[in-house]
Amino acid sequence: MGYAPSKCPVCGSYKWMKVDKSKKGFSVGKAAAGGVLLGPVGLLGGALGKKTVTYYCPDCHFEHEYKG
Ligand SMILES: [Zn+2]
Repeated sequence: MGYAPSKCPVCGSYKWMKVDKSKKGFSVGKAAAGGVLLGPVGLLGGALGKKTVTYYCPDCHFEHEYKG
């Protein structure tokens, strides 16, 4: 898994865009709880939990996760 390309790898469309799926990945609530319990280290751990971004192409409906 690498970083996202600037256009859709399937059809080459520049409408290819990042979509918000943060509910499953990085959890603000979890990070906040970590911050309360462990201070800055806990916050950092929460942020690094699962750092991925999902990109979606509206032209060919291809969707893929990349590193954030
Ligand atoms: Zn596409």
